[in-house]
Amino acid sequence: MELSGWGRYPRIRAQANWFETEAELSQDLEAAGKVREGLIAHGQGRSYGDSSLSREVVLTRRFRSVLDFNPQTGRLTCEAGLTLAELIEAFLPQGWFPATTPGTKLITVGGAIASDVHGKNHHQAGTFSEGVEWLELMTGPGEVVRCSREENPELFRATCGGMGLSGIILRAGLRLKPISSAYIRERVVVARNLEETFRRFEENRSAPFSVAWIDCLARGGMAGRSVLNLGWTLEGAGLDPLPERKLPLPFELPDFVMSKPAIALFNRLNFELAKVSSRERVRHLESFFYPLDSILNWNLMYGRSGFTQYQLVLPKEASFRGLRRVLERIGRSGLGAFLGVLKLLGPANDNLLSFPLEGYTLALDFKIQPGLFRLLDELDRIVLDHGGRIYLTKDVRMKPETLRQGYPGWERFVELRHRLGLKPRFGSLQSRRLEV
Ligand SMILES: Cc1cc2nc3c(=O)[nH]c(=O)nc-3n(C[C@H](O)[C@H](O)[C@H](O)COP(=O)(O)OP(=O)(O)OC[C@H]3O[C@@H](n4cnc5c(N)ncnc54)[C@H](O)[C@@H]3O)c2cc1C
Repeated sequence: MELSGWGRYPRIRAQANWFETEAELSQDLEAAGKVREGLIAHGQGRSYGDSSLSREVVLTRRFRSVLDFNPQTGRLTCEAGLTLAELIEAFLPQGWFPATTPGTKLITVGGAIASDVHGKNHHQAGTFSEGVEWLELMTGPGEVVRCSREENPELFRATCGGMGLSGIILRAGLRLKPISSAYIRERVVVARNLEETFRRFEENRSAPFSVAWIDCLARGGMAGRSVLNLGWTLEGAGLDPLPERKLPLPFELPDFVMSKPAIALFNRLNFELAKVSSRERVRHLESFFYPLDSILNWNLMYGRSGFTQYQLVLPKEASFRGLRRVLERIGRSGLGAFLGVLKLLGPANDNLLSFPLEGYTLALDFKIQPGLFRLLDELDRIVLDHGGRIYLTKDVRMKPETLRQGYPGWERFVELRHRLGLKPRFGSLQSRRLEV
């Protein structure tokens, strides 16, 4: 079948096998042993690049039962193909929610662990793996290993954030967070430039949820202007689910829709509207956390060539200087990433390849076009010079040396893959490109 990540670049032909039982997965691993390139898990394909692509993949979505739930403690045992959307549908009405959630609920639990995803509350709550108590992993035909912070801790730390390269996650024990309401009190704050954006984030550190939308086309004194969305749970406001409403985008849009003038206009309107619209409002948490999930297939917006998301993080002390240089460089390129998403991150954890560092992370969407990868190589240089790194779950073009410099844990990760015989059994287009 044809397969791609969310950016629809690259699109490849893969031998893709569903599994519903451990025995079926074991057979797939046995058969894949004869292929030299390695096999990789593919969940919902919401990672943007090539981390869940290989000539042979196993599709995890049919392995998705809820196995156990304790309504007193919020402890959940589930199979890794369960999506966060299914989890929320089952447990939100009972007052439980994932402790951390990214900007889409249309991902699997296995994908959330393998990318060790973060959300708008990272500065207070950390990554998804903080809420994972244990997991079970198939590392070879018939070989299932249980790991946690106490049992096989090294394998646990390699799997959380390890992009599927330590085996296929079968099951996980999660700790959900109790919530008293499905509503968020949101405050919208406008910042006129990058300096003010940083000041507003720091002033509002105590807000449990924060994110800023940066206008990447603004120049001069307005460079880095943004609209911040801050959120607090609105206590006692009810637990009803959000009614399903999805706007379909049934076909690829023509190029002018994502052209520079059209997006400059959109950004201006967005910014001016935020200045005049009400500063506080109440929103359902699903529309606060997942604004893009209500548009089906919005990834078609970038047309046939597809797109990539470039996500960087810079340590706190270098964030302002580094981001200013990144925004200037993009502005000069004329290639335009139009809207950037900026988040404040808390301390790093000790997983070998997890992305977050204490500082700021910026995510930018770029249409695939000539000259783009040269620009992104230059941005990599700026990011590395400021002590930062690039997020693997969004990556489709990084060079091995960029990974090595940005992720000090890479050497132990590669050594563990060799020692446990996980290489070449598990591999993706990304792992071969990055030589891990
Ligand atoms: C609109 C949107 C918003 C997003 N917002 C955020 C955000 O705010 N924060 C953030 O951190 N990320 C964000 N992401 C990225 C997304 O959360 C991650 O890429 C996530 O890993 C996707 O999960 P998936 O089930 O689609 O996995 P896939 O894309 O299929 O796979 C991703 C990786 O997980 C591995 N994997 C999947 N299942 C298993 C398994 N069972 N065992 C072992 N490995 C497995 C794959 O091999 C691959 O390496 C966003 C993505 C989108 C499209």
